[in-house]
Amino acid sequence: MPDSHADEPFRREVRAWLDTHCPLEMRGPADGEEDHCWGGRNPEFKNDAQRRWMEAMAARGWTVPDWPVEYGGGGLSSGQCRILKQELARIEARNPLFSFGISMLGPALLKFGTEEQKRRFLPEIARGEIRWCQGYSEPNAGSDLAALQTRADDKGDHWLVNGQKIWTSYADKADWIFCLTRTDPAAPKHRGISFLLFDMASPGVTTRPIRLISGLSPFCETFFDDVRVPKDQVVGEVGKGWDVAKFLLGHEREM
Ligand SMILES: Cc1cc2nc3c(=O)[nH]c(=O)nc-3n(C[C@H](O)[C@H](O)[C@H](O)COP(=O)(O)OP(=O)(O)OC[C@H]3O[C@@H](n4cnc5c(N)ncnc54)[C@H](O)[C@@H]3O)c2cc1C
Repeated sequence: MPDSHADEPFRREVRAWLDTHCPLEMRGPADGEEDHCWGGRNPEFKNDAQRRWMEAMAARGWTVPDWPVEYGGGGLSSGQCRILKQELARIEARNPLFSFGISMLGPALLKFGTEEQKRRFLPEIARGEIRWCQGYSEPNAGSDLAALQTRADDKGDHWLVNGQKIWTSYADKADWIFCLTRTDPAAPKHRGISFLLFDMASPGVTTRPIRLISGLSPFCETFFDDVRVPKDQVVGEVGKGWDVAKFLLGHEREM
């Protein structure tokens, strides 16, 4: 779609900014997993250019150009996002930040999160400061995801989480998890599920990488043994996590 007259200044601004801020080493096709920057509490950068590129894009809000500015985004309109995408493609700029926070959790928080949750979690996702993993699948809950058995029991001032997840991609490298748990075992299986967020450094969380026949994989088994999760770390209504889970899967499929 050609630019309207009003779009031209923005395109010029983007071009000039990218000329200055996108290092030459960050242009051209990625050459393997180490060219992917995932951020996190202990980020691993292939080189300084990769770090500078992620930080520059994050500071501008362009790791999530369509998110509101107050949550760390660029606040761009859909037309502006399209121009930014075109200009990034024109110089073959690499994705500055791979992130399940951006592609999966963020959209779910924008729709279902409280204002406090959005302000707490979204900016650190946008800046690549926290790496998230997805705790959905279980040994007996894959295709039949709603059969999940990981429990979160209401202990008054916290949830107590017990159970096991499987195929948790990069769980061993993640800082936090978004996790489907059963909070009401008596309810029909698609109800009684709640969508919890918690720190992977919480006591009682362990991960074990899964070795596939082809060698190592990004997959892990993830175990929860009396993990205490603060009450305010439920996204959406208690017992209605299935709605959040399905909405998030829509974004995962887009990814
Ligand atoms: C690259 C990749 C990354 C992933 N990352 C994550 C992650 O980070 N977090 C996470 O939670 N999960 C992750 N998963 C897991 C994934 O999303 C699915 O939940 C999981 O692969 C399906 O579960 P399962 O392996 O137990 O398969 P099963 O449910 O056992 O299914 C195996 C086969 O049986 C078929 N089948 C099952 N039930 C029926 C039925 N009733 N009738 C007919 N056919 C049936 C299925 O279609 C499938 O072909 C990942 C998967 C992949 C491939």
